[in-house]
Amino acid sequence: MNTDVYVGITPMTEPAAGCTAELERLGDEIAELSAHLDAATARLLELIREFDARAGWNTGFRSCAEWLSWRVGLDRGAAREHVRVARALGTLPRLARALARGELSYSKVRALTRVATPDTEDRLLAVGRAGTAEHVERIVRGWRRVDRLAEARETARRHKSRALHLYQDEDGMVVIRGRLAPEVGAMLIQALTAAREALYHKAHAQNVPAGTSGADVSVEPPAMPQQQADALALVAETALHHGIDPGAPGERYQVVVHVDAPVLTDPDGPGQSILDDGVHVSAETSRRLACDATRVVMRHDPDGQVTEVGARTRTIPPALRRALHYRDGTCRFPGCARRFGQGHHIRHWANGGPTTLSNLALLCRWHHRAVHEAGYRMERQPDGQLRFWRPDGRLLPDVPPPAAVPADPVHTLRARHDAQGLRVDARTAMPGWLGERLDVGYAIDVLHPLAG
Ligand SMILES: [Zn+2]
Ligand SMILES: [Zn+2]
Repeated sequence: MNTDVYVGITPMTEPAAGCTAELERLGDEIAELSAHLDAATARLLELIREFDARAGWNTGFRSCAEWLSWRVGLDRGAAREHVRVARALGTLPRLARALARGELSYSKVRALTRVATPDTEDRLLAVGRAGTAEHVERIVRGWRRVDRLAEARETARRHKSRALHLYQDEDGMVVIRGRLAPEVGAMLIQALTAAREALYHKAHAQNVPAGTSGADVSVEPPAMPQQQADALALVAETALHHGIDPGAPGERYQVVVHVDAPVLTDPDGPGQSILDDGVHVSAETSRRLACDATRVVMRHDPDGQVTEVGARTRTIPPALRRALHYRDGTCRFPGCARRFGQGHHIRHWANGGPTTLSNLALLCRWHHRAVHEAGYRMERQPDGQLRFWRPDGRLLPDVPPPAAVPADPVHTLRARHDAQGLRVDARTAMPGWLGERLDVGYAIDVLHPLAG
């Protein structure tokens, strides 16, 4: 019987002299290649910034990060960080240059871009050069605390100053003056714009017959301030009319379907049902809303008279919806993993498509719109798999093919950096730290413009 005894060699024993030199070379090679990779990452982020700014990802994807995750295989968190850092570096040229020269690691740059502004970039670059990645991380955490406190003070001050004053003038008119939080103000402006359009643009279009110039005084719309006043009245009236209740999700749209009674005998006949156009949206939008909604069917006789009004039903009954969620889990569009979705009829029920599992697919709100209104096409294959096409007819694969990589990528990277005149060695990214203790509180006090 053989018993092998292995004696572990731990790094506690000093390596032999020849060995030390070899390990040092190995360490240097690691440091040098890491600097090369950071320099290459700078280029990668530059490309991502341009791709993002020019909306190259806007081909069925919801964001640049989503596209990156699909195309390159980064996990979602890392993809979002890449896009965030890429955008931030667009306004931080010194940090961008330090990364491009391999002087600052991607980890340090990622941390610093969470707090750096054009005003504080220089100071934070010095922090990145002097400290280790862990020091940088700790200083950034402390910096953010100061930022958050200052921001919270500012938000609280603004929130406190919100106000709406209403008082009656001598002639009985009501005067309004106020200060609203930015997001509330934006909402009000949006509501007034919508109300103004409803009141004037539509009325104007109806009142002016084609061929006339509209110079008639009676159809001249009121001045802008008057329109705004009328719009506010409509907003208030609408709010009161609806009991100031935004309504439960899914119940917001009720679709009325008009069906010609004789056509019902032929479910494949064209135009057997027409969606009510009461919501003033495009045909395709009303088809999307109708895909998964509350439905009321009205039957008409040949003279157009309503003969029968059906009960309100869900186009996708609850049990089928549960089965759909169980089978699909998330949105089925390539690269999307949103968990909340709507049931989409691959062949619309208004065209005779059945409400069955095989004719349904879960799509998030965004991709449901893409399939109905943006020209994307989907089909279920005989094997049950879904396939998607872009509006230009090209197939949109679930997983894109990987990019071609040269046989020796490290050599290629070095050669490219050499050609650019970039000199990178084992000491390029070495921190200036000499082992002294880091006092984060002191460092922040000295560096942060709002500290203390
Ligand atoms: Zn649909
Ligand atoms: Zn989706």
